[in-house]
Amino acid sequence: MRMNSWPSAYLPPLADSFTLPPLHVKATSGESVLDFKSGDNFTMYVCGITPYDATHLGHAATYLTFDLINRYLRARGSRVSFVENITDIDDPLLERATRDNVDWTQLADSQIDLFRSDMSALHILPPDHFVPVTQTMDLVENALTRLISQGFTYKVDNDFYFDTSTFLKDLPIAYEEALKIFSERGGDPDRPGKRDRLDPILWIAARPGEPAWESSLGKGRPGWHIECSVIALRYLLGENYLNQSGSPTHCISLQGGGSDLIFPHHFMSAAQVKALTGRNFARTFVHTGMVGLDGEKMSKSKGNLVFVSKLLNSGEDAMVIRHALLSSHYSSDRMWTEQVLQASRERVAKIREALSKQYVSGSAELINSVITALAQDLNTPVALAAIDSWASSLFESESSTESPGEVSRALDLLLGLAL
Ligand code: ZN
Repeated sequence: MRMNSWPSAYLPPLADSFTLPPLHVKATSGESVLDFKSGDNFTMYVCGITPYDATHLGHAATYLTFDLINRYLRARGSRVSFVENITDIDDPLLERATRDNVDWTQLADSQIDLFRSDMSALHILPPDHFVPVTQTMDLVENALTRLISQGFTYKVDNDFYFDTSTFLKDLPIAYEEALKIFSERGGDPDRPGKRDRLDPILWIAARPGEPAWESSLGKGRPGWHIECSVIALRYLLGENYLNQSGSPTHCISLQGGGSDLIFPHHFMSAAQVKALTGRNFARTFVHTGMVGLDGEKMSKSKGNLVFVSKLLNSGEDAMVIRHALLSSHYSSDRMWTEQVLQASRERVAKIREALSKQYVSGSAELINSVITALAQDLNTPVALAAIDSWASSLFESESSTESPGEVSRALDLLLGLAL
């Protein structure tokens, strides 16, 4: 079942003469993870948007990163299963709908549409399942029923909370710091009646004027973290997702998202999966850096978000935007400025000029340099620099005999740059 996804991009073949080494990606926990032999099944879950203001450049940079992993592993012969959720019911969405006096479902639908067209324009391969949480209430209910029977929950009034006590020893940051971030990112550390201030809400009993779903837990809606736990398990592991299958140590290969999701979101989702299955959620967690604007943090509170659709509507070339996002390493926080965009306009123009020549040279060396750079923690700045020097060298070379098609196909396949 492919829910609500966007059209796939064509993946051109790579000549058999190229060998892709294993992909080394630096996990958030620090180690370089050697990933996956060709032919293996790779299961990847990337946290999706809350559809009230998609798609800003921070979103785009994140989805682009996991797209590079997807492309590389596919090119290497792995079978990649990729799932992404849509948080189409959550406090920020309801707050925005109230503020703008629009129906929350219409706001969500319009932003999901915009996100799909932005992803498609940026040549990001679609997930196999793009799953809105409002269509998974049965999964949430099943998971909660199991957590209740296992003793991992308690109630405050009619709301259900997740008891984190057995997981807090693995907190990725100091407790006081965690409390502060928890509060900033949707948590309620000061609510009376909670066992631990960091316990996240699992099921929010119906509030007056808010949407709610019927369930055996009472009428309500899910908390944020549980949706990703259940959507990832169900759509990556199949119908029998709550029972052991595959690896005895972890459920899926990779969970990804922006570095602002490390805590509490990914920590809590993983704790809930551990409680549900007895296994770790993902073998590897990878997080992407944040994108700032002109020297400032980009955030909705500052009102300085740069939207992909706005850039596209102003006539910007989607491949220039993609190139500009690739020009910094995924793991570093970076600044978006007009100069970054302008540099990519010029660099893309030069690559296009090179690819439009009747004959080129050095194709195999270039393609191997791009492959090597990507294999070493997705080093896109190095890959793009190799393309620049290849393009420059062509204007001096007089002995070109190769068709540019091979380079063009490789850049499209590996970097998603269809130029
Ligand atoms: Zn998530």
